[in-house]
Amino acid sequence: MPSRSLRVAVIGAGAAGLVAARELRREGHAPVVFERTDGVGGTWVYDADADAEPLRPRRSNLYASLRTNLPRECMGFLDFPFAAAGPDDDPRRFPGHAEVLRYLREFARRFDLLGLVRLQTEVVRVSREASESWRVRYSRKVAGSEKRESEEEVFDAVVVCNGHYYQPHVADIAGVDAWPGKQLHSNSYRVPEPFRGQVVVVIGCSISGMDISKDIAGVAKEVHVVNRSAPASTYERLPGHHTNLWIHSMVDRAERDGSVVFQDGSRVRADVIIHCTGYKYSFPFLGDDATISVDDNRVGPLYKHVFPPRVAPQLSFIGLPLRVIPFALFELQSNWVAGVLSGRIELASEEEMTREVMAFYSGLDACGWPRRYTHVLGDFEFKYEDWLAGQCRREKIEDWRKEMYAVAVKDNVEYHGNYRDMWDDGYRDHLLVQANREFAQHFP
Ligand code: FAD
Repeated sequence: MPSRSLRVAVIGAGAAGLVAARELRREGHAPVVFERTDGVGGTWVYDADADAEPLRPRRSNLYASLRTNLPRECMGFLDFPFAAAGPDDDPRRFPGHAEVLRYLREFARRFDLLGLVRLQTEVVRVSREASESWRVRYSRKVAGSEKRESEEEVFDAVVVCNGHYYQPHVADIAGVDAWPGKQLHSNSYRVPEPFRGQVVVVIGCSISGMDISKDIAGVAKEVHVVNRSAPASTYERLPGHHTNLWIHSMVDRAERDGSVVFQDGSRVRADVIIHCTGYKYSFPFLGDDATISVDDNRVGPLYKHVFPPRVAPQLSFIGLPLRVIPFALFELQSNWVAGVLSGRIELASEEEMTREVMAFYSGLDACGWPRRYTHVLGDFEFKYEDWLAGQCRREKIEDWRKEMYAVAVKDNVEYHGNYRDMWDDGYRDHLLVQANREFAQHFP
C-alpha cells in the first residue's frame, strides 16, 4: 500500500505530463500540472502560423502533412488504445497529427485530468529548499487581460515533462552568414507552397527531413537532401521519389554567390536551407541545485534517464529517451516515479545510482557512442522498458507492440520514407489481430 502522499508539481501538459499526472494521482499523490500554453497536448497542437523569425523556438513544430511515424495501435498509452473510434476520425494506420491531439485530449478527459492543469502558467524557476522540498516560481496570465503575474508555491517533488522538441539545433555551415538565401529550421516548416520553383537544401534525413523533402519536391525546382552518414562522394537521385529529389553527403560550405557546396565538391545555387537537425534539451527554469547539466545534449547525471542521484526522488524527468515508443515509455517512467515517491517501490541508494550512471557513461565512451546520443535508446529500448516494468511490478510491454515498432523502424529504412503506405500488405495482420484482442479488454 502507498505510504506517502505528496504534493507534486508537473511541468508541461504534453503526453508525458498528462500521463505523469494520471500515474501520480493513481498512486495517491496530489499533482498540479503547469502548462505555459492555452491547451493540453504539447507538440501535437498544430499552429499554422510560421512567422518571420524562422530559426527561433516556437510552440508548435508540426507541418500540415505530418502523419505519425508509428502505427497508431502501437503508439497509444498501454491501457488506453489509440483506435479510430468515430466517423470523424482519421482511420489510417499512420494517421495525421490532428488525430493524435484528439486522442490526447480524450485521454485527459477520460481520466479527468483537465482539472489538474493550470493553463497559461509558465514555470520560470524551480529551486530546492533546505527542507528538500522545491519552490516553484511561475508566471501566469491574468484572466481577461494581457498582464502576467508571478507567484510561488512549495511542492514536495517536481516532475519535469517539458518536452525536448522546442530549442532548435541548427547545423554549423562555414560561410553561411554571408550566404544570401533563406534559412529555416524544420520547426517552422508548415506547407510546401512557399518553396514553389525554388532550389532547396534540406539538412538531415531523419523522419522529418524525409517527410519535408518529399512534401517540397512536389512543387520545388530541386530538393537536395544532406545525409551525413552517406559516403562523401554521394550525389544521386533518391529512388522511388520525385525525379528532382537528390541525396548528398555533408555540406562543406555556403558561398556569397548563393552556392551550397557539398563534400564531394559538387555545388548547387540554392534559395533555401532547411535545417532538419533536431533539437536540444533545455531546462531554463532549473538552477545548479537541480544537480544536472546539459553537456553536448547529454542530460546528466541521471539514473536510468529519470533521477538525478543527489536529489532523487524529489526531482525527476519523464520522456528524455529518443528512438522509442514514446507514450508507453512515458507511462512506465511515470509509474516508476509515482511508486518511488509513495514508497511502494524502493529506489537504489544515491551511491548505487551514481555508480550505475558513471558505469553507463563509461560504457558509452568505450564503444565510441557520441555523448549527444546518450538518450538514444535504439536497440536497448525494450530492455530498458522491461526493466522499468519490473520495478513497477507491471506487465512488460506486449510483444505485438514491440514487433510492430520494430517493423515500422525497419520499413522506414527500407522504403526511404514511403513506409507508411507500405504497411497494409497483409502479412502483418497477425499483429493487428493481437492488438485488437488486447484493446477489447479496455474497450469491451
Ligand atoms: P511536449 O509534447 O513537447 O510537451 C511539453 C509541454 O510542456 C508543452 O505543452 C509545453 O508548452 C510545456 N512546457 C514547456 N516548458 C514549460 C514551462 N517552463 N512551464 C510550463 N509548461 C511548459 N511521437 C510518436 O509517438 N509518434 C509520432 O509519430 C511522432 N511524431 C513526431 C513528429 C514531430 C515533428 C515531433 C517534433 C515529435 C514527434 N513525436 C512522435 C515525438 C513526440 O514529441 C512525443 O510523442 C510526445 O508528444 C512528446 O511529449 P512530451 O510531453 O514529452 O513533450
